[in-house]
Amino acid sequence: MDLYEYQARELLAEQGIPTPEGIYAQNSHEVAEAADRIGYPCVIKAQVKIGHRGQAGGVKLAKDRDDAVLKAEEILPMTIHGHKVSGVLVAEAKNVLHEYYVSISVDRASRDFDVLATANGGTEVEAIAKEHPEAVKRLHIEALGDFDIEAARAMAREIGFYHADVEQAAQILLRMWRCFKENDATLVEINPLAKIGDPDDEASKTLCALDAKISLDDNAAFRHDGWKRFADARSGDPFELRAKEHGLHYVHLHGEVGVIGNGAGLVMSSLDAVSGAGEEQGTGVKPANFLDIGGGASAEVMAASLEIVMSDPQVRSVFINVYGGITSCEQVAKGILEALDQIAGAKPIVVRFDGNAAAEGLAILAASHNPNVHVADTMEQAAQESARLAAEAKEDR
Ligand code: GDP
Ligand code: MN
Repeated sequence: MDLYEYQARELLAEQGIPTPEGIYAQNSHEVAEAADRIGYPCVIKAQVKIGHRGQAGGVKLAKDRDDAVLKAEEILPMTIHGHKVSGVLVAEAKNVLHEYYVSISVDRASRDFDVLATANGGTEVEAIAKEHPEAVKRLHIEALGDFDIEAARAMAREIGFYHADVEQAAQILLRMWRCFKENDATLVEINPLAKIGDPDDEASKTLCALDAKISLDDNAAFRHDGWKRFADARSGDPFELRAKEHGLHYVHLHGEVGVIGNGAGLVMSSLDAVSGAGEEQGTGVKPANFLDIGGGASAEVMAASLEIVMSDPQVRSVFINVYGGITSCEQVAKGILEALDQIAGAKPIVVRFDGNAAAEGLAILAASHNPNVHVADTMEQAAQESARLAAEAKEDR
């Protein structure tokens, strides 16, 4: 999960990394109020989960309240590189003397952490890396090593921070590392890490994070209750959100045949089989979703899955493809029947079982005499049948 800049700044501030005061606002009224609290001049910054906002006109300086509202009214309706602006950050404007770039990210190849940094900030790091590759340092933090203040100082010197900035840079590097680790991040980037202050007053000069980009590792969400505060209410698919609450791996695909299976590979093949059948039958019927119920496909999991898939109004039929392993197909069959009892307005289901207790599972389904339950011997037949049922149901409307 990628965070917005205003959220990333919160995580940096929690670690004691200096970052200018900022307030998130979503309309002119909120902007005016926020700007008055921040003071003038202030910067109005588009909040989108994509970089290069500055070049796209998404970062603007405002000199007073009217100007702040004007700039916000320009930025709020923008779409930057395909991302709709969710709101603006109204932040203290700082006098920038110099710009550094620092990021920490996971390096999957060397199984440790990459610190990418340059003292030659100012332009985009990609451009610097191209024109002056020697200016961009790539350093490492060992996965199991200690990264302490001494190591951070050595790193700050190696990156090329100006002598006067080394001590503060080391503190910031150390805190970025804590921010990275404690939040299970995959990326913590500060660009620019700016030297700000009055050029004629040495004592006023200091480093601070003017922009921040943080990505969190979704696999660690279970141990970070606080991430709920980052949930983007506007941009969530309601079916995907519900599936997530049940711990299911679901992707909404917007076709007509709901697909439920155990194991990502099996579900992917099922999607292909349904698409193929839809094409062959000339109906253009497509899969409505990807839903992997995983290894322990219990009755409760099956019930929750069916409930979510069938609540999608575009779904006309459901293809259930289960390979019985740890969980027997008998259990899955019971789960299906229990779920159908609870769901009003159930839709036709085609079931294909294989593996552990497949025959017993199919027998239970057959014995139920539920008109909505169809069984198939092979995956191909099940795909054909569910595509046909979906096309039929579509015509009936
Ligand atoms: P990005 O383009 O999406 O990376 O957005 P940034 O937050 O990095 O802003 C782009 C540029 O605007 C920065 O590189 C700075 O040069 C400039 N900028 C951002 N905040 C301030 C500020 O408070 N004062 C000044 N003078 N410039 C700023
Ligand atoms: Mn930036």
